[in-house]
Amino acid sequence: MQGYIININSVKDEDLIVTILTESNLYTTYRFYGARHSIIHVGFKIDFELETNLKSSIPRLKDVIQIGYPWIQDAQKLYSWQRFIKLFYPHLKDVEEIEEFYFNLLDTLAHKMVKQNPKRAIIENYVQLCEHEGRLHTEYECLLCEEIIENDISLVRSFLPTHAKCSYSKRFSINKIKELFEEKSSLQLSDEEVEYLWDILLQGL
Ligand SMILES: [Zn+2]
Repeated sequence: MQGYIININSVKDEDLIVTILTESNLYTTYRFYGARHSIIHVGFKIDFELETNLKSSIPRLKDVIQIGYPWIQDAQKLYSWQRFIKLFYPHLKDVEEIEEFYFNLLDTLAHKMVKQNPKRAIIENYVQLCEHEGRLHTEYECLLCEEIIENDISLVRSFLPTHAKCSYSKRFSINKIKELFEEKSSLQLSDEEVEYLWDILLQGL
């Protein structure tokens, strides 16, 4: 089957605990050290098999083949991708059965990143995630004072809307945020604004 590696922990010797997001599950797997094994990293998409063993509660990860991205040699794209995908681990780790949505979202993103700036593609993708989870606030009500936001808006963690004057943070024109939330487009945002939203995103999904 195929999945995305969203977390890797080293255990004794050079063995690894590898968490993999597939279409329908989040698997915690054990990978024994092997000199002939291909190197794996967080963010890689892999094809793999699991071997279950009565002696261990964790299935063994085997027959791993990396599925490359066209942009895998682009250090900036790979780095942004890995930072984003790592956030899925704390977000999903207590869930076992996963909706197909998450796997498909990452598939779509990997494809979009062929042509698009990685941070813009990720921010747009993240807005889709928030919408799917029912926490994209398109009523534009301020988290802090609960009044409607008419002009200057500022986003805080999880892209929650606030008045810029209430959260004392960077102000955005509301039309730009509406376009991001409703059209899933970052086109109107400047590079500097994208960087700001990127830093918010890194605080956690
Ligand atoms: Zn307010």
